[in-house]
Amino acid sequence: MSIAFIALGANLGEPATTLQGALRELDRIPDTRVLQHSRLYRSRAVGPGNQPDYVNAVAQVETSLPPHALLDALLGIEALHGRVRDGQRWGPRTLDLDLLIYADLQISDPRLTLPHPEMTHRNFVLVPLLEIDPELLIPGHGPARQALQSVGSEGLALCQ
Ligand code: ADP
Ligand code: MG
Repeated sequence: MSIAFIALGANLGEPATTLQGALRELDRIPDTRVLQHSRLYRSRAVGPGNQPDYVNAVAQVETSLPPHALLDALLGIEALHGRVRDGQRWGPRTLDLDLLIYADLQISDPRLTLPHPEMTHRNFVLVPLLEIDPELLIPGHGPARQALQSVGSEGLALCQ
């Protein structure tokens, strides 16, 4: 069995409801169970336009799936939530699931980069991650707590 951490994010539809559902679906992935998950956080969307805030969380799972199979399962759950009907057109994605860390693996291939390359820059990943494991070491990087010190907590709040 290996320990992995998964980031959940949504900013369309009912993000908090989507994330609660996605946490249950993570627990139903074969040979995988959710050991812990963070509370839900609200973060300001970055990027162009006037996007709604994101809701973010992190889950810690125990799995015997290899990392690419776990990624496929995450993409399958994304696809279940993946698009909302917006009149006649398919709207944007409502759920993002990123594999942050899988055991101590460091991988970079066309389908999967581990640890997730953006995770050390994102307070909406680091804060919920540290809630689950305050001592977490990011493989190849060092303490998650140290990464958060450089990034700061701006734009992030707990969902009530
Ligand atoms: P982002 O999460 O950066 O906004 P997407 O979710 O659209 O972008 O990107 C999905 C693609 O990124 C997947 O098809 C997957 O192959 C690739 N990818 C590479 N590394 C990872 C990872 N650690 N976690 C999730 N997806 C990854
Ligand atoms: Mg993604």
